Amino acid sequence: MNRKDEIYQELKALNDELKDIRENCKHPTYTISTFSWRVGSFDNMRMCVECDEVLGEPSEKELEEFNQEIIDKTPIIEKQTDTDTDSKHTIGLDLVEVEQRPMGIGTKIYKNENI
Ligand SMILES: [Zn+2]
Repeated sequence: MNRKDEIYQELKALNDELKDIRENCKHPTYTISTFSWRVGSFDNMRMCVECDEVLGEPSEKELEEFNQEIIDKTPIIEKQTDTDTDSKHTIGLDLVEVEQRPMGIGTKIYKNENI
């Protein structure tokens, strides 16, 4: 067996172990996290703090708190706009709207009421 095949075998063993851990976890606590189902597809989901199992969709309140946390963590970039030299009028500072939110894991821990 070459090294590549050994690596595949080790990855499978590790994945099996992770699956085992998740199957035996009671998921006592969760946080809200941006989860990628596949490339280009993201959702904010409840995720077990202990084993990272995806536990379903967050409540509206949890989603609000998570979004606020991401916004709070995102630096606001101040952009100086062009100065209108003819009228000596400075258009001024614009706040760049934060459109792209980074992927993140929430820091607020919720107790899982479903166990
Ligand atoms: Zn768990």
